[in-house]
Amino acid sequence: MRYVSTRDASLKISAAEAIARGLSPDGGLFVPETLPQVSAEMLRSLVSMDYSQRAAAIMALFLEDYTAEELKAYTEAAYSKERFGDEPAPLHKVNDNTAYLELWHGPTCAFKDMALQVMPHLLRAALVKTGEKKQVCILVATSGDTGKAALEGFRDVEGTKIFVFYPSDGVSDVQKLQMRTQQGGNVGVCAVRGNFDDAQSGVKAIFGDEAMRGKLADAGYFFSSANSINWGRLLPQVVYYFSAYCDAVEQGMLSFGEALDFCVPTGNFGDILAGWIAKKCGLPVDKLICASNTNKVLTDFFRSGTYDRMRPFHTTMSPSMDILISSNLERLLYMATGDDKQVKDWMTQLTDKGSYSIPSKLLKTLQADFAFGWCSEEDTSREIGERYAAGYLMDTHTAVASRVLADYRAESGDKKPAVVLSTASPYKFCDHVLRAIGAGAEGSGTQLIETLSEITGTPVPRPLAGLDKREVRFDQVVEKTEMPSAVLGMLGIG
Ligand SMILES: *Cc1c(COP(=O)(O)O)cnc(C)c1O
Repeated sequence: MRYVSTRDASLKISAAEAIARGLSPDGGLFVPETLPQVSAEMLRSLVSMDYSQRAAAIMALFLEDYTAEELKAYTEAAYSKERFGDEPAPLHKVNDNTAYLELWHGPTCAFKDMALQVMPHLLRAALVKTGEKKQVCILVATSGDTGKAALEGFRDVEGTKIFVFYPSDGVSDVQKLQMRTQQGGNVGVCAVRGNFDDAQSGVKAIFGDEAMRGKLADAGYFFSSANSINWGRLLPQVVYYFSAYCDAVEQGMLSFGEALDFCVPTGNFGDILAGWIAKKCGLPVDKLICASNTNKVLTDFFRSGTYDRMRPFHTTMSPSMDILISSNLERLLYMATGDDKQVKDWMTQLTDKGSYSIPSKLLKTLQADFAFGWCSEEDTSREIGERYAAGYLMDTHTAVASRVLADYRAESGDKKPAVVLSTASPYKFCDHVLRAIGAGAEGSGTQLIETLSEITGTPVPRPLAGLDKREVRFDQVVEKTEMPSAVLGMLGIG
């Protein structure tokens, strides 16, 4: 199977090259030229497998230049008991036709772990397979979850270094302490004075700085990123849709072969796109329901066919969905049309004038696969409170999707079994969760962890327990202009 760029389909490369390069030189994203088909027989065989076996089997269909032994080794290391507990992605059924797919049992309590635990292995092997001699230096600007998950994923992976910049104002107390206490011999963490945009534009400037690239090359390194534009980060997410389907059958929510809906709290459109890919590979999925918070650019797109990023940006209690440019939508548009010239034109319009519109025929095709909706801040809180009263505690992102599913069912009359993707532990957003269940939220974020546990009688997730007693290893704070020298300093060059 070859991979092509969404903006130039004549560029055909191997899976390892797609993962090693990350982004295509034309600015496009890599996608498989054709999708593999999963037969009913193969799907049935997945039911009796554990999560790492399911992951190796599904990923093998897309990664022809990786051996079965390699994939087995990576998925066993990534989804080990030590890192994810007994079940990496358990399906928590709350009634006959609704379940929550908990994707936050990994080392940082966020669903980003599902991909970022295995992606470093795929990348490291890709560099060997493509003959890259230099070591990779990963730079990440984070608004919270991605930075910590990337640090844990790349920690002590041979041939890699990783540096994370976070805004001094803009990440939660818990997220900050998670990063400042990071372990590992190849990691660095640094605060940047300012907000997320300052950190992100600082990292982009370093990527584009030829003198910096030269200095790194002389020392035997090159820059790369760990965000969801890399195919190696998207592919592992396809796996849990198959896994959830198998578990839903096992738990008696539906018979083998019957269709299931998935409702996904969406930001950059990586997670839900993975579900659409699973459907197109033959998984019996009916609707993928795209759930947004107040930044409802995708709801408007799926309703009207116009993507318009020229709108106010809202800071919400589900910050990982506060996004106005959902990068992975480009992959959907290409895979649904096969028209690289058209996709390139839409993306140019998005950059130049801030919007583009797709034809109504294409919109209808997309609406056959996607339902959509959004949830206000008030309704997000109310959903957490109501679901907690009914016996299930959830975080703010999951609550957005939970509520959108309820609205969708009420409007459409769809009674099919559905799975809500649960993307973060409620312990990562203790203050909002405590207020939503009617409890006080006084004190620092790290103190509230204990409070939430006492009030709800749920255990503190292991990765967050005793966080405030761990040794702080990284307390450097720099100005944006000092970020390049911070990188060189951490690498011990320049
Ligand atoms: C990243 C993230 C999302 C959004 O996922 P996308 O792939 O960007 O759409 C939702 N919830 C949480 C907790 C996240 O960290």
